[in-house]
Amino acid sequence: MRILITGGSGFLGSHLSEKLVKEGHDTICLDNFYTGNRQNVQHLLDYPNFELVRHDVTFPYYAEVDRIYNLACPASPVHYQANPVQTTKTSVHGAINMLGLAKRTGARILQASTSEVYGDPEVHPQTEDYWGRVNPIGIRACYDEGKRCAETLFFDYHRQNNVEIRVARIFNTYGPRMQPNDGRVVSNFIVQALNGQNITIYGDGNQTRSFCFVDDLIEGLVRFMELEENFPGPINIGNPCEFTILELAESIIRLTNSKSKVVFKALPQDDPMQRKPDIGLAQSKLGWEPKIQLEEGLTKSIEFFSKLDKISG
Ligand code: NAD
Ligand code: UDP
Ligand code: UDP
Repeated sequence: MRILITGGSGFLGSHLSEKLVKEGHDTICLDNFYTGNRQNVQHLLDYPNFELVRHDVTFPYYAEVDRIYNLACPASPVHYQANPVQTTKTSVHGAINMLGLAKRTGARILQASTSEVYGDPEVHPQTEDYWGRVNPIGIRACYDEGKRCAETLFFDYHRQNNVEIRVARIFNTYGPRMQPNDGRVVSNFIVQALNGQNITIYGDGNQTRSFCFVDDLIEGLVRFMELEENFPGPINIGNPCEFTILELAESIIRLTNSKSKVVFKALPQDDPMQRKPDIGLAQSKLGWEPKIQLEEGLTKSIEFFSKLDKISG
């Protein structure tokens, strides 16, 4: 198949590119290199079925493809808040352009949506039928509302133009090829622990997240895209094992044998207190559930970060 991956040189996009290229698909990896980098896909450049394109999804793009994975969008709060207007444009204009492409070519298109559509949730664990609790004018809104509007566009192109869509709500995912300066919690803590720096916990560390290792996530996305039943979703994809941020810090300190101390910093505005996917739908529709638990995934991630020449947080 001919497959387009937007955001293909980012953390998740590079793992997805690698899987699809190795399966023999003609793969176009499109990226503006805002948070992704060439290094992530360097090892794929020699494959004749891999093509790397510098392009910003907020502008139209023309290619003939069978599948589109729409992953373009900075995912770390630090990066998506650095230029919030561009973040909303990427989600909204990017979705319109990629849906326009899907409509013209008849390609099936998957949206990398997010658990952030649930905001700071009152329903726990989060099920797909929960509409969420998002502050529309807060500092996370550029990302949360951009992704919510993208979901709206996906479902309207589906209803109005019969575009075959797949909306995946991805929960916190981590692993090799996150950038050391990405700003998300797992990479921050590992880099700090390896450098012997203080581990920066925002708030009291009692907020929770449920962390999915990248290989599991990619398997879930591809299964959803290739599901024979024309099921648009949304489907939660993530690991339901829930941890406090303090527990995460303690695990990383232990696994790295670090002497780092935990320090407490201010909790950012609208930081969700709890997050855990209900994955019943993914289990029944896709026959999928995560296999790699936190300690094993952290060990693989620590190995990746400890091999980087120079790491800086
Ligand atoms: P990432 O920041 O590593 O990757 C995003 C990629 O998109 C980068 O390569 C970046 O350069 C590219 N990009 C950004 N704006 C673009 C634009 N306008 N045009 C073209 N390319 C652009 O993040 P990630 O963790 O790999 O996330 C990938 C997708 O999955 C994102 O859409 C994100 O919202 C979603 N997601 C990720 C997680 C997670 O925990 N990793 C959770 C929920 C949703
Ligand atoms: N588009 C694109 N690539 C394509 C087809 C469309 O980037 O192969 C863009 C196009 O520029 C338009 C958007 O997708 O702005 C939405 O397309 P649609 O056909 O839905 O809308 P229209 O062109 O009628 O405004
Ligand atoms: N966090 C933290 N220290 C850091 C980075 C993040 O305590 O150095 C916290 C953050 O406040 C949030 C959780 O870890 O409660 C997850 O943050 P991340 O940015 O990884 O993802 P998100 O908040 O989007 O789930």
